[in-house]
Amino acid sequence: MTDRAKIMPPAQGEPWLLTPGPLTTSLAVKQAMLRDWGSWDSDFRAMTAELRSRLLSMLGAGGADYDCVPVQGSGTYVVEAMLGSLVPRDGKTLVLANGAYGQRTRRTLDCLGRAHLLLDKGDYLPPRGAEVAAILAGDPDITHVAVVHCETSSGILNPIGEIAEAVEAAGRRLLIDSMSAFGALPVEPAHVRFDALVSSANKCIEGVPGFGFVLARRDVLDGARGNSQSLSLDLHDQWAHMETTGQWRFTPPTHTVAAFLQALRAHEAEGGVAGRGARYARNRDVLVAGMRQLGFETLLDDRWLSPIIVTFFCPDDPAFAFDRFYDLMKAKGFIIYPGKLTVVDSFRIGCIGQMDEGVMTQVIAAAGDALRDMGVTDARPPAAALIERARLAA
Ligand SMILES: *Cc1c(COP(=O)(O)O)cnc(C)c1O
Repeated sequence: MTDRAKIMPPAQGEPWLLTPGPLTTSLAVKQAMLRDWGSWDSDFRAMTAELRSRLLSMLGAGGADYDCVPVQGSGTYVVEAMLGSLVPRDGKTLVLANGAYGQRTRRTLDCLGRAHLLLDKGDYLPPRGAEVAAILAGDPDITHVAVVHCETSSGILNPIGEIAEAVEAAGRRLLIDSMSAFGALPVEPAHVRFDALVSSANKCIEGVPGFGFVLARRDVLDGARGNSQSLSLDLHDQWAHMETTGQWRFTPPTHTVAAFLQALRAHEAEGGVAGRGARYARNRDVLVAGMRQLGFETLLDDRWLSPIIVTFFCPDDPAFAFDRFYDLMKAKGFIIYPGKLTVVDSFRIGCIGQMDEGVMTQVIAAAGDALRDMGVTDARPPAAALIERARLAA
């Protein structure tokens, strides 16, 4: 069960981060970093082992065939490690893109010199199982499909269940960027068949930045020797070294690992993936209902809204300016996030981190005050925004 009493405001003068990572962490997570560890020492090796086994157990049903490989760096480094190590050099990847992170996957494959095909759905339309099936049927050279679980640039929750079914039916392999979803949304191998997924320390598990991790089938890791043309991002090598020595190949982010272990224990105490996901869903529900009451509208229909981050259209009222809104929200203690849509102006508010619905209620009050401070009387978006949204519903 969620222990709501444990949510504490950040330290004096520190704002709430309504951003999709780095995000607001607990005091206990921050305090876990107040000592030093020797990376070769058995204490730290035990911490690495606990981290790997705790992450594996979060896979739930069907996770026994998987292993966990942490990798130094931000999430993008680990996506690159996954693509460069698990896709053979003569492989071809179908990239499903509906936002910045899907585009980054394509760019990464470009840099790696790996063949790929892009299904580009624009700013936010979801890639669907049937269109993936049709593309795979028409191109026997495709070996892998890469999908983003929650595309953080719009907040859309992509339908990975139907996509995984299409990929499996076609006998291809699925790689998931679950960076902003893992830990809050279930990805159980018993229900969603995939070769590997990636996430990082500073998203739904509520640690601090410094490393990411891959959860991959053990046979796939075993078969990945020699695929990577990078030394530091070679997943097979990192895995093999960790298996034999219990250590990271190169200097590990020791303090980040210590903080992450504290975050993992809190995650378990909250009820694991289900408990974490339930708190984030309540955060989203309170946020969306309150913002709609103020007149704001969401980019996405309820059906596609994730409990991770929500995109709102900027009001049409000429008195509204995002930069001013941002500053006013910051002065009230909340850091929000600019939007990433190309067609209409928008901004985003995250639902993840050490926050609960009480905090979200304060966010709504602050947004209402900010509108009044700016002299905005009507928070409704321009007609063009609603036309955009109608396209999605169609
Ligand atoms: C955060 C995120 C990443 C990684 O971003 P970094 O800035 O490298 O940590 C990748 N994919 C998605 C969907 C994300 O939300």
